Amino acid sequence: MKKRGKVYLVGAGPGDPELLTLRALRVLENADVVLHDALVSPEVLALSSPAAAVEAAGKRCGKEQTPQEVIHARMIELARAGLTVARLQGGDPLLFGRAGEEISALESAGVDWEVVPGVTSASAAAAAAGIPLTDRRAAGQLILLTGHRAGKFAAEIPAPQAGGATVTVYMPCAPYEEIAEKFRVAGWQGETPCAIVSGASTPWQKVVHATLATMGKCERLPAPALLIVGEVVGLRMGARNDMATLAQVI
Ligand code: SAH
Repeated sequence: MKKRGKVYLVGAGPGDPELLTLRALRVLENADVVLHDALVSPEVLALSSPAAAVEAAGKRCGKEQTPQEVIHARMIELARAGLTVARLQGGDPLLFGRAGEEISALESAGVDWEVVPGVTSASAAAAAAGIPLTDRRAAGQLILLTGHRAGKFAAEIPAPQAGGATVTVYMPCAPYEEIAEKFRVAGWQGETPCAIVSGASTPWQKVVHATLATMGKCERLPAPALLIVGEVVGLRMGARNDMATLAQVI
């Protein structure tokens, strides 16, 4: 009897292979084909079975590399051929990825699928910078948003919340000044601390601290980078609250 194919939608985490889940590792070791996003690190891909075919598919900051329909068709084709497919996406596949659309396509095609969650980059960035994303002293809410839509920073920034909220911005592709201005228009104070974390969990990880007022002057960090805004960032910064010390690189 022919083996039944299956697609695993696997979270590759933020970069460091040590942050893969054991289940993700097991799927990688057993998959016939690994279909990965641009953000997946070479160190993670190296954990795939040596017998596996490794294929790139993905996008970065909206620059489409493989049309989504082509990825759907490829996953369906491979699964129908009885193969086990690891569809590997950066961070967690259910956050700002295409897993939702991919699950719909697999469902319509009658293909078996399973999600293997991963460490999302907001968690990795917070860990890198030593910032609690929620803290009863400063934030009872966590808002995850992506600013990016067709090359523009199009996100609706929520107004500051009673009890405090932390906002994490995935894909902060727009100029920092433009993003900071959106927060100010939404009612956030210029003194609100923020941190930009680039390459969280990788050897080239960088953290820059600023405030919404000073963020526009910060050097542009290489992608992938994530922005964290809110009083929780100040818990990490302590009393060192001036621009000279804020633009530190850890
Ligand atoms: N599914 C992913 C997010 C994909 S969107 C997740 O759960 O993390 C891609 C965005 O994720 C990037 O533009 C960046 O904002 C963020 N990102 C991914 N890896 C990162 C890393 N190592 N450090 C900082 N941000 C990262």
